Amino acid sequence: MMKNIQKAYALTDQGLQNLKRGIFWTVLANLTVMSGVSILYWLMDRYMNVLTDQGPLPSVVITLTLVCLFFLLSYLTHYQQYKATYGLVYGEVATTRLQLAERLRRLPLGYFGKRDLSDLTETLMGDVNRMEHVWSHVLAYLYGAYISTAIIAIGLIFYDWRLALASLWGVPVAFALLFGSRKQTERRSEVTKKAAIQVSDGIQEALENVREIRSNNQAQDYLLKLYEKIDHHEGVTIHGELLNGLLINLASVVMRLGVATTILAGASLIAKGQINFMVFFSFLMVITRIYAPFDQSLALIAEMFLSQVSAARINEIYETPIATGDLHFRPKGHDIVFQNVSFSYEDREVLHDVSFVAKEGEVTALIGPSGSGKSTCARLAARLWDVNQGSIEVGGVDISTVDPEILLTDYSVVFQDVTLFDASVTDNIRLGKHGASEEEVRQAAQAANCDEFVERLPQGYDTLIGENGVKLSGGERQRISIARALLKDAPIVLLDEATASLDVENETKVQGALSRLLAGKTVLVIAHRMRTIAGADHIVVLEEGQVKEQGSPAQLLQENGLYRHMVDLQNESAQWQIEA
Ligand code: ATP
Repeated sequence: MMKNIQKAYALTDQGLQNLKRGIFWTVLANLTVMSGVSILYWLMDRYMNVLTDQGPLPSVVITLTLVCLFFLLSYLTHYQQYKATYGLVYGEVATTRLQLAERLRRLPLGYFGKRDLSDLTETLMGDVNRMEHVWSHVLAYLYGAYISTAIIAIGLIFYDWRLALASLWGVPVAFALLFGSRKQTERRSEVTKKAAIQVSDGIQEALENVREIRSNNQAQDYLLKLYEKIDHHEGVTIHGELLNGLLINLASVVMRLGVATTILAGASLIAKGQINFMVFFSFLMVITRIYAPFDQSLALIAEMFLSQVSAARINEIYETPIATGDLHFRPKGHDIVFQNVSFSYEDREVLHDVSFVAKEGEVTALIGPSGSGKSTCARLAARLWDVNQGSIEVGGVDISTVDPEILLTDYSVVFQDVTLFDASVTDNIRLGKHGASEEEVRQAAQAANCDEFVERLPQGYDTLIGENGVKLSGGERQRISIARALLKDAPIVLLDEATASLDVENETKVQGALSRLLAGKTVLVIAHRMRTIAGADHIVVLEEGQVKEQGSPAQLLQENGLYRHMVDLQNESAQWQIEA
């Protein structure tokens, strides 16, 4: 049962231990409060004895000792309860966020197509926040209230089952009411969550694409759509909160009907002479306290139901299988062999039965029309995704059996979409090789022709370049990325449009650095400009996810196929530009 609770509320192992502790102290705290009622009952009973001359008042010492003991126990149990619930929950929040982040780091890239950035940010921040409240304010209190009330109810049934029934019947009915509406509550919570994600998606999209929106004069239209999303979110939130409030209050009223039935039953039993006044009085005192933990719990239960959506979203990240593999990667050489590879993004197959070999010491160029699958091949070669059919081997080892992080130590990668961090130029380049000296970083930067623009930056190599290098031009960012790859100096090099953002002069210079980097390595290069791949040893032409032709440039030129056609087109275009 505890394992089910752990899963249902996305608790870590430590969180589950803390919950058990929290429940234990909550039960003790609730029972201690009830013991106060018993002390009061005992004092009243003695006092009644004095009034009817049946015994003396208890001594002041005994009375004071009992009262002091009660306050001491109350303080101790409530303090421990607080520590086990509120005190430990911050650690639980931090551990959950770290575990989620670690998990996200190791999930296959395909997962990020299903859940976008704002969706995942909402889980890491919003969903964990909601669970934090449930972990600290709800679970221990609720389960503690169930157990302590069950214990007290058993005691009351033995004491007088008729009055026990009259005072407690409202509790299960109130809970049944809330549990009966659970499905609807969860559905409403899901709708509200989706609406909240649409709003944050919209805001993030607007911030990311502010240039495009403004340059196309779409600001007004975009804002209107965003306002619609915000209004929708507001509407479903208010609707959900109103219904929840209504249900909780209804349940609370039903539960409190127990007071009326206790009075009715008690009065009737006294009238029939079946109980004495003190029994009736004791029940009246008990019911003032017995509903208290549940009063709090009714509101908490609704929150608990709402939290199920957040818990499910967190669990989904925990349960998605991560790409794992052997930590020892000992290939025989670094030939990359694609064997009958097919691959789909979600349901759409974009590569069909692709086979080719990129040999060590050679430059293999992937070419083809836009969307033909070139970048996908490069990503699969680095196991950023796993193939659906066929296999990819490096040096005779199937890469799907190798841990992705270990595999990537053998790759230098320069992709079309360069990723930089808001750190100095030096630190961005140093990402290529952990612990590289200042000298090594400078050499790589010079080779990638970074010197020329870094000199113009206010603090040279120590200048912070902004989020994803926003303070640099496309070509400058690409040169930093190339410097990173040069520094890494791995046996396999993947270049996806690595020099696309460079002008002709810079491309020529960087090509020089690249040819030094590429010497003797397995190189897979993707470029649209035929000039960039002119020196390739082997060319693979892709069309609509299939290999149309492959061979040396000379062979393909003779074949008069797609490659020949692309070369001719680019020559014509260059000729046209010269004439223009
Ligand atoms: P380009 O030359 O324009 O960069 P490409 O030949 O490199 O194109 P890919 O980027 O490999 O082509 O894309 C192949 C197909 O896969 C395209 O139809 C594209 O729409 C689709 N695709 C690419 N990335 C994804 C993704 N993350 N999710 C879904 N589909 C994708």
